[in-house]
Amino acid sequence: MRHVERKPEPNILLLKKDEWTEKFLESEKNRPDNAKYGHSEIKSLLYSASHNKCYYCETILKGKPSEIDHLIEVSENKSLAFEWTNLSCDNCNDKLPNRSIAVADTLNPCIDSDEEIRKHLKFEDEQITFLTIKGDLTIQKFKLSSERLDWCRMQELKKFHKLLIALKDKLIEDNRTCMNADEMDKLKRFSRFDHCYSLMFQDVLIDNNIR
Ligand SMILES: [Zn+2]
Repeated sequence: MRHVERKPEPNILLLKKDEWTEKFLESEKNRPDNAKYGHSEIKSLLYSASHNKCYYCETILKGKPSEIDHLIEVSENKSLAFEWTNLSCDNCNDKLPNRSIAVADTLNPCIDSDEEIRKHLKFEDEQITFLTIKGDLTIQKFKLSSERLDWCRMQELKKFHKLLIALKDKLIEDNRTCMNADEMDKLKRFSRFDHCYSLMFQDVLIDNNIR
């Protein structure tokens, strides 16, 4: 999870939110119309804000059929069905977030800064761990620890280590002791916000003494 800077509320919501919410609350339906909160204008703003990554696990969602997620479930609070601050990119775990854990007890990528997130979550290789109870609850709520995610993170770690070995080989070959800025930058790219699992790579860079 990284901090996601929420973009200004899209026009479609400014224009339609009140009407949609009123109709939904009057209806007997349990779920709001996906075509409304999943409107293309809403989707593209949500996805571009996170560089097409899941707001929670940082998996790249591009090309995958993905949905818009309600941070506070519609079943918990129907009036938030079309609320801009309650919409994010789908938790892509094929499972719903753990409803027994309250959103208020977890990290929120749209509110909490990177610095704050790092106080609660840590990585040991591909495995996510927690530093606080809030971190633990965040991992549980958004299912950030799973075999599938471990496997995906491991694949990215392999790419990083392959590059690191190639760059170190080049150092020996050129009889140099330090990497140049361009080489360092190639490694640091893994920890940038537009890269998948970038929070994990922040720890990986520290572990490898790359600053
Ligand atoms: Zn996800």
